[in-house]
This record gives sequence, structure tokens and C-alpha cells, in this order.
Amino acid sequence: VSHEGLVRKGFGLRRQVAGDLSRDYHSQLVARAREAGHELRWPGLALRIATEFGFCYGVERAVDYAYETRMKFPDRRRFITGEIIHNPRVNTRLRELGFEFLDGTGGSEAQVEDIRSDDVVLLPAFGVTTEMLTRLRETGALLVDTTCGSVLAVWKNVERYARDGFTCLIHGKWNHEETRATASRALLYPEGRYLVVLDLDEAQAVADHITGRGDAAAFLDRFGEVVSPGFDPDRHLDRVGMANQTTMLSSESLRIAGLIGRAMVERWGRKEAAERFRSFDTICSATQDRQDAVLALMKQPPDLAIVIGGFNSSNTGHLAEICSERCPTFHVETAEDLLSAAEIRHRPIGRREPATARAWLPDGPVEIGLTAGASTPDREIGRVIERLCTLRGVSPDEQVD
Ligand code: SF4
Repeated sequence: VSHEGLVRKGFGLRRQVAGDLSRDYHSQLVARAREAGHELRWPGLALRIATEFGFCYGVERAVDYAYETRMKFPDRRRFITGEIIHNPRVNTRLRELGFEFLDGTGGSEAQVEDIRSDDVVLLPAFGVTTEMLTRLRETGALLVDTTCGSVLAVWKNVERYARDGFTCLIHGKWNHEETRATASRALLYPEGRYLVVLDLDEAQAVADHITGRGDAAAFLDRFGEVVSPGFDPDRHLDRVGMANQTTMLSSESLRIAGLIGRAMVERWGRKEAAERFRSFDTICSATQDRQDAVLALMKQPPDLAIVIGGFNSSNTGHLAEICSERCPTFHVETAEDLLSAAEIRHRPIGRREPATARAWLPDGPVEIGLTAGASTPDREIGRVIERLCTLRGVSPDEQVD
């Protein structure tokens, strides 16, 4: 236990749970693809797979700690605040292993109020808000914290901004647990404030306000939900520190930082703006590597791309966005989404709800680009590959060179 009632480093049972993890998440086919230079070929079907895909270090660690927790406390009640990561199969598996979700995931009915001091509660890879942490601490339960080190690094920046009187301008999704948790860190300091922008369009409205082209009432109408209590755009944009959710599209985060930086220079002049504007790129390396790999894959666009990951997975959505600029792209959650050679269930870019597309798989030889988000287990990727083989009438074991 590294802190009173809070465990940050697991229980040293990594080797003991390795077999269970492998049984639940490993795929022979995907292991073979990694060895074979990320290309697999069958008659009439070629798969090119991004060089970086699937589970990131933060997700591996979170899932590992969940399994360790179960091994360490087989007889205690075990809870998770919400989805441990954004993958439906992993969450379902944890439910089967006896974890209850405090946010109702998978039909759980448990509430924070039900937690007792002899329970164990897992905190997810994207962290929890300071308010939730306080409530959980008050229960006296043992907390197993799987918050990723890359998220903790963002919090450090945000807290430094808040301490120094800078408003934290966060490029992120307000409905994402990580962004809520990150924003809450700003309020640990009396001068702390935050504002969350989703995209370039919202950032432009902030830049306009900084340069004196905005109206406070209209600003608060637009951003009312995603600013800290008592936020005054006329006063609180005079010192700005940028951060981002770790899984955003890195090119967009960079453009937003550039846009706000230029607005600050226009408003204050170069010298003073240097004192009033700070920026750190807080995209995590796993997200960056996966985006870079998919950009490399798309240099020679395949006939179509399949991107595998939870429909609510931020980083998966951005991988699909990158692919969709180069070829027809289908973001699927599981192998079952490949309904038939004629129909595929997928989440269209920029939309929340899935839809069914028709005539997605061309007749004749086809080359498919494949990647998967940081919360997608190899097992699911392998199942999608097997499903593609079935739809093409080839056996996964009969590859050609
Ligand atoms: S996507 Fe990045 S920040 Fe999130 S868990 Fe993985 S490594 Fe950590």
C-alpha cells in the first residue's frame, strides 16, 4: 500500500495473473501478424496492419491490476467507478469476474453510498474527479488506483497552471471521464479555473474573445457547461495554460495551441504574451505512436480501412478519422459488427450512434488496412480478422506469402 488506503502499484502478482490475461485477451493470429511484418495475405484478401495498434501501456497496466485485485481479494466485494477502459468486452469480462460498476455499466446497480470499509474499489485508467476521490476515501474502502502515468502528467501541468493563476484551457471531450477528472484538478487551487474546448471551431471562439471580438454573455451561453464556476471570459482569459486529453487528434491539439498562442500575442504583444501563455503537448506517447503509424499506413491507401475499438473510445475515433480522409473507413466495435459481406455495423465519423452500411466489401481481390485503439484487446482484433476470412471464404490458417 503506497498511500493510506490507496494502492498505486498493484500487488506484485503480475506473473500469477499472466495466464488468465493471456487466456482472455491474447490472439495467435495477431501474434503471427506482428512477426510477419504486419501483413497477412490470403487468396483475394490482403491485410496491412498499422505498426502500432491495440493495448497501450496504461491499459495493460489497468487490466493487469484488475486481475491482480481479484486474485488478492477473492472474498471481498469488488467495484469499479465506471468502465475501466472503453472496451465493451473487457468491461463485460470484469463483470463476469465479480466487479460491480458504480456508474451502472452492464446493468450494475451499486452506488458509492453502498461501499463499505472492507470493500475494494478500482479507479480506471483515465482517473476520477477529485470529488469522486474524496467520496470514495470517506467510505474507508481500499482503493486500487490504475490512473495512467500519462494522465497524471497532464494533471501535474494543470495544477501548476492553476497554482500560478493561469486558466487551464483543455482540448478534450467534456463527456469523457479523463477530461472531467483533469478539469477537476484545476479547482484544487483557489485561483484555479478551467475551460474545455472540443475542436478548432470552439477554440476560434475563445481566440476571438481574447482578441476583443467576443461578447461575454454569448460566450457563457456557448461554453456555460464546460467552464469552472464563476468563470468570467472578460477577466479569466488574460492568463492561459493549454493542456489536452491524452487521446485527442494530436494535429488538432497543436493547431489549437497555435491559434490561442497567436491570439494572446495579438492581444498582449509578443513580450507580454510570453508571460501570459503556456502550452504543453499532453497527448500521450501511445496515442501519438498509433496516430503516426496509421498515417504511415495511409501513405498508400488501401481499398478500405477497418478500425477496431469501443464506439466511446476517443483514441479509436481519431484513428478512424485519420483513415477516413484517405479511404472508405469503418469503425467497428467487435467482430459481430461485420454482419455479412453486404452489411457492416459501424460508427460513422463524428457521429455518436452506429449505423449500418451496405456494399462495404468490394468483390474481387481487396486490400484492407487495419488498426485498433489503445483499449482493444488482441483477441478482438484476431476475431475481426477471422471474420474477414470467413466472409471471403478463406481459412485463417491458409495464408499465402
Ligand atoms: S491512451 Fe495514453 S493516457 Fe490513456 S491509458 Fe493509454 S497510455 Fe495512458
